[in-house]
Parts: sequence; C-alpha cells; structure tokens
Amino acid sequence: MFEGVVSIFSNATPYMGLVKVYFGNRVLRKKRPVIFAHMVTFRCNMRCHYCMYWKKSGEEVSLGEVVKMLKEASEEGLAIYTATGGEPLLRNDIEQIVSAARDYGFYTTLVTNGLLLKRRGLSGLDLLTVSLDTLDREKFARITGVNALNEVVDAIKWASERFRMNVNVVVHEENANEIFRLVEFADSLGIGITFEPVSSYFAGCASISPKTLRRTFAEILRLKRDYRCIWNTEGYLRLVMETQNFPCLPYFLLRVNPDGTVIAPCYEVDHVAVGNLTSQTLKSVVSSDAFIKSCEVGECGKCYLLCYVEPSMVFSSLRWAVKSIYGILKA
Ligand code: SF4
Ligand code: SF4
Repeated sequence: MFEGVVSIFSNATPYMGLVKVYFGNRVLRKKRPVIFAHMVTFRCNMRCHYCMYWKKSGEEVSLGEVVKMLKEASEEGLAIYTATGGEPLLRNDIEQIVSAARDYGFYTTLVTNGLLLKRRGLSGLDLLTVSLDTLDREKFARITGVNALNEVVDAIKWASERFRMNVNVVVHEENANEIFRLVEFADSLGIGITFEPVSSYFAGCASISPKTLRRTFAEILRLKRDYRCIWNTEGYLRLVMETQNFPCLPYFLLRVNPDGTVIAPCYEVDHVAVGNLTSQTLKSVVSSDAFIKSCEVGECGKCYLLCYVEPSMVFSSLRWAVKSIYGILKA
C-alpha cells in the first residue's frame, strides 16, 4: 500500500483526491482514510506459517456490493485501492473489481503471492506487489507450505515485463541473511523492492531479534546508496534500525474484511469491528465514534508496517514529508 503512495509521487500524477485529504487531515485535523485496504478474500493457496488468514473462513461480498463500496469510498475522497487477502487472485471477479476501482478514479494496487499471476489479466493495475521472503527453494517451502519457488520467480519475471511492480520482503530471522541476494534479484529485473520487519502480530510464528533487526536494516540502508531498486525511504530504514516510536496515524487505512466488516485500523488490534459496509454507508462508518476512537493511538512503535509508518510520518510532519518526497524522487 505504501508502495502505492511511492508510485503516485514518482509518477508525479496530479492526484487531487490525495491533496484534498492531505489538506483535510493535516490542516483541518480531520481523521480521514486515504487507502481502501480491501481483503477481498481470506482464502489462500499458500500456508505461510506466520499467517492466520488462510485459517479463517467467511462470507465474501458480491461484485455488486464491492462496486457500491468503491463508489462510496471515492465520494469520501479515498484515493488508493489495494486488493489484498488472503490471495486476491483466487477471486474469479478480481479483474472486474480492479477495473471498477480504476473507473472510480482510484490508484489501484494489488498484493499477491504470485502463484496465479499468469492466469489473470489485471489490465489497468497501477502497481503490483508480489510477496517474496526468500530465494532458497527449501526455505520457501518451509515458510509458505508449498514447494513453488520456481513458479513464483517465473511469474515475477513474467510480470516484470508487464506491470510497474515491486517485491515485498518480510524480514525475520530465517531470511535476514538473504538481503543482498534479494536486492540483486530485483535489480536484475528492473523492479522495486521493499522491506519491512515481521510484526509482533505474528509472535510465536516468526520473529526477529533486536540485534538482527539493527544489523539487517543497517545493511539495507547501506545498499540503498548503490541500488535504486530499494524503495524504502532512508527515514523509514533509520526509524526501524533505531527502533524509534513514531506518531502513528492508523486511520490512514480503511481496513475492510471480505464480508464488508470494517475493522479497527491498527494492525495490532485485529478483529475489532467498527462497522460494516453492507449495512452502513462508508461515510457513517468513518464518522462514527467507534472508528474515530480506534484511531487515537499516539506515539507507537509496536509494528513497522510500511503502509502505516510512511504515510503516518508524511501526514504528521512536514519535515518528514519533504524528506520522503525527496527520497522518492531520488529513487
Ligand atoms: S501468501 Fe499471504 S495470505 Fe497466503 S498464507 Fe502466505 S502470508 Fe498468508
Ligand atoms: S505502529 Fe502501533 S498504532 Fe500504528 S499500526 Fe502499528 S501497532 Fe498500531
């Protein structure tokens, strides 16, 4: 999702919706989401050991209901639509969903594990993100539960010629020694690469020690001087390396479950429902006390998920905004 923000700025797209929300949030002190983070399904064709989504089940709203949500979201000024999951490509109507998001003026992004990429058209997607934690075949099978590294690498190569894209690496103890290899892989294909440390949300399944975290993010920071394919900003990499708190504004993301439930925006407070877009309008959900209260978190550093850190810093500090935009344009 943050990658969407990066891509918007680097393309210098005149995105008036984003400017409007920036003004409303920063100057008028409103709490308005910008990114429609839509888990279109919990289903997944992988079994990552640190993930809980594939173990869930539940209803998925129809295409018609998704289109209604998109219309309301665009009227509320949300500017970026991210289809995520689970594995979003498992929805047979994902192409229509992305296309509807484009029609409503969203900058469209999709996060996938890559397995079904070659089978879906996805024309009109602005940014594709493929999750890739390792280039080691056995490790890949151990982490994801499927022996499919070759298929995913092949799909990334195929997609690199068709989409603006990046791979996103969740850094944990098992893959911290592969940073250079992963950067070289992205560089060789001319695609972006982003890193984020595993969240404490996955405690018990995957972890990273403070020592490994510092060492690894210092390495990424060093590599960034020579590799333009690393899209993380310097500010982000330093923040993680120094494990600093930051003024988190989690309401930047409107997190919507497959059944239309809006959940509290903070990643660490999962499953707390604050509304449902099938029975309520989006405007009434984002103006409700439940939503606004769930956004009041202040300084935090419990997770360093890209989609929270970078937008939060851009929206809370002009200095960070200038530095981020400078870093992005330089990339
Ligand atoms: S590919 Fe993504 S959604 Fe699927 S199991 Fe792995 S982390 Fe979870
Ligand atoms: S940094 Fe803290 S408040 Fe922000 S999303 Fe992460 S856990 Fe939630």
